[in-house]
Amino acid sequence: MFSRLYIHIPWCKAKCGYCAFSSRPLAGHDLDQTCNLLLQEMKLAAAAWPDNQPLQSVYLGGGTPSLLSAEQVAHLLACSRNLFGHADDVEITLEANPGTVNLDSLSGYRQGGVTRLSLGVQSFDDRMLAALGRIHTAEESRTALTLARQAGFDSIGIDLICGLPEQTMTHWQNSLQQAISLQSDHLSVYGLTIEEGTPFATRYPDGSPELPDDDQTAAMLEEADSRLTAAGYEHYEIANFARPGKRSRHNCGYWQRDGYLGIGPGAHSFLRQGWGIRWGNQGDYKTWADAIRNNRLAATEQQELTREDALSEVIFLGLRMADGISLSNCAEQFDERLDQRYAEEIRQLQQAGLITCTPDRLALTKQGMLLSNQVFVRFI
Ligand code: SF4
Repeated sequence: MFSRLYIHIPWCKAKCGYCAFSSRPLAGHDLDQTCNLLLQEMKLAAAAWPDNQPLQSVYLGGGTPSLLSAEQVAHLLACSRNLFGHADDVEITLEANPGTVNLDSLSGYRQGGVTRLSLGVQSFDDRMLAALGRIHTAEESRTALTLARQAGFDSIGIDLICGLPEQTMTHWQNSLQQAISLQSDHLSVYGLTIEEGTPFATRYPDGSPELPDDDQTAAMLEEADSRLTAAGYEHYEIANFARPGKRSRHNCGYWQRDGYLGIGPGAHSFLRQGWGIRWGNQGDYKTWADAIRNNRLAATEQQELTREDALSEVIFLGLRMADGISLSNCAEQFDERLDQRYAEEIRQLQQAGLITCTPDRLALTKQGMLLSNQVFVRFI
């Protein structure tokens, strides 16, 4: 039913101006209490789905999971192992804000079972970091990466954002170059999106002159592809690059439609049952916490997928990965060949140089990865 676990830590030191994630400032809240609720939610879920396979991956995301002490993380992981079982080679990722870690905490996470660190660096330019409302400097990011190596992490990813206010190509090239020099194992590269309801939406309305336009942001993403692939990274998913063997297995599971259980306010779950069942947890912390205290799972309405929903997901999620979609697996699952159903669309997209189609594989080209929205609309 599910082979992956996502644990959402809903707190941050301060809210960044661009952030629309389910997170709020920690001030005045008790992390022990949150951990106890997360443990209780895990117990409720384990009782609801008792016949599960051992987990292939666990991901502590947020929010800022690195606000937790090493003991709190170790305790959550020990409970996950007891309740669900962990595969021998389980991948356990923790998202860390560079402004919240030191050698002791990183060593503690590693000893507590965390195998992979994802650092929210976002930029190596202090002016950009201040504009984003990040609580750390570029120097703190460099130090965090060095300390993570000293703590024994051999799989460290960083996130970078382009299209930032007043960011030029030179700023962006500098951030990419620093990520490469620091020998980060994995990079997630995003273009800034201005989300409704965030301070950035008020500060930077549509067409704001401080923001690079779409063409400039696209050029930055293209620059990331050429610099990172030249440096030996594999562009394995639209927004993700990895050194050989260092892909995020947890995130690959999302794109391959593996089942996952999400714990914590606003976390999402997907069960492999029938064509699939999806739901999200209540995003409001108090509503979520009250449900768990009353021994109820805090799920919102479930969506049972139809065959057509599931087929669309296979296309939209599968095409995100450079490996693309196996047409024979798809035919086995749905009793229909995608290259027949979409013969004309595929022919036109091939002609435009956006996809490749062999007898067994449908995949985006490099150009298709940069212009993926133009591909996806053809399969709606
Ligand atoms: S640290 Fe991450 S989750 Fe927290 S407010 Fe900033 S962007 Fe959002």
